[in-house]
Amino acid sequence: MSVSSRSLSFEDLKARVDDGSVDTVLVCLVDMQGRLMGKRFHARHFVDSAWDETHCCNYLLATDFEMYTVSGYKATSWEGGYGDYVMKPDLATIRMTPWLEGTAMVLCDVLDHHTHEEIAHSPRAMLKKQVARLNKLGFKAMTATELEFFYFEKSFDEIRKDKYRDLEPISGTNQDYNIQQTTREEYLLRPVRNHLYNAGIPVENTKGEAETGQEELNIRYADAMDCADYHTIAKQAIKDIAWQQGHAVTFLPKWHHEKVGSSSHIHQSLWTEDGKPAFYDPDGRFGMSEVMGQYVAGLLKYAPDVMYFLAPYVNSYKRFQKGTFAPTKTVWSVDNRTAGFRLCGDGTKAIRMECRVGGSDLNPYLAIATQLSAGIKGIEEKLSLPEPQEGDVYSAEDAGEMPMNLRDARECLKASAMLREAFGDDVVDHYARAAEWELEEFDRIVTDYEVARGFERA
Ligand code: ADP
Repeated sequence: MSVSSRSLSFEDLKARVDDGSVDTVLVCLVDMQGRLMGKRFHARHFVDSAWDETHCCNYLLATDFEMYTVSGYKATSWEGGYGDYVMKPDLATIRMTPWLEGTAMVLCDVLDHHTHEEIAHSPRAMLKKQVARLNKLGFKAMTATELEFFYFEKSFDEIRKDKYRDLEPISGTNQDYNIQQTTREEYLLRPVRNHLYNAGIPVENTKGEAETGQEELNIRYADAMDCADYHTIAKQAIKDIAWQQGHAVTFLPKWHHEKVGSSSHIHQSLWTEDGKPAFYDPDGRFGMSEVMGQYVAGLLKYAPDVMYFLAPYVNSYKRFQKGTFAPTKTVWSVDNRTAGFRLCGDGTKAIRMECRVGGSDLNPYLAIATQLSAGIKGIEEKLSLPEPQEGDVYSAEDAGEMPMNLRDARECLKASAMLREAFGDDVVDHYARAAEWELEEFDRIVTDYEVARGFERA
């Protein structure tokens, strides 16, 4: 099977339904948390009728992880009656999901039930909008998101019934690049690589990461929307395959304070419409073009504005500790892993900027869309790039700081004129409410930590 962003045309799907090799189609939207939500269609009904559109409750773009009906959203509420959205299958995204027998998948755009206009705070719509802005400037964005995660000995069910206590990773040693240890996890990772590849997702590799039970998946860079689709589907496949084998896997950025966190670095480069690397100039410093300098200066200037989309939950901020490769400063560097933004492939056509800030819980559509919006603003403002940082950036005193907790990130999000211009006030206010809700819940709930610390000694 050839690898492309689309592994199956609608006609191919119909043929597979006719010959009986496909009986189920997953019809999915991407929610605020970056999860696939939708319905499992009988394939015959999908190809005969539901391919055009189907419906879902409009709370799907306003819940939290627990599917709670959160108050305070303008777009969706009890007062508004929680009506429907249209789920409009994007037929260019049909693909097999080979880890699920007889099953294909399609991703949907989310439309207003009455006007059929795209819902502005839908993650795919937000990314589409920034891609269109970039196209108007004569560029297209190529991105790659790395995925880090931990496997555990027990199953999801066992761990949930144990109340998420005594979590044992699947291995007992740091397995960074370690072939011996990752051989022992091949029964999990080999199906991940092969099934995703056969789903049309161009997997590059998996590798052990720098903790017990930690792994990384790399997928070849692609245009921004495909990249976000790949990330989302890969995450689902990793969870499904772990479940099939009786193990749990987590994308929580920091499941234990003594363990390394999990990130999702975002590689980004711009290309011209005729396929030339717009970030590359052999005569520029480090091989960087002027437009790359402006774009990266935008990423740095607006890093606080977009922080929320790289770290959307309370837990996301537990990753940012000195000496952990999780950056905290708004500086860039040349191939230095302690900086928030690392220049990779300098002096070559593969030149790109890697944003190292995001955690493994980010929603790739939102994270990439807001990275692009910051970079676009940098180009529009013709910003000039500050000098790169050298050495250990954690101790760089004059460097700008990223917001280091959800409360501060939410303030930066709310106050961002750049984001309001790029996405509209309603969209910014929608996500500011999502952040506020996470804080309200965290403030309300008594944690294990508080009880253990204070129970006897308070
Ligand atoms: P690392 O050592 O950080 O893992 P890799 O060379 O493996 O670096 O590349 C990391 C990611 O960067 C891969 O997913 C790769 O496809 C992607 N990448 C390579 N070139 C580009 C580019 N020009 N633009 C965006 N991403 C790219």
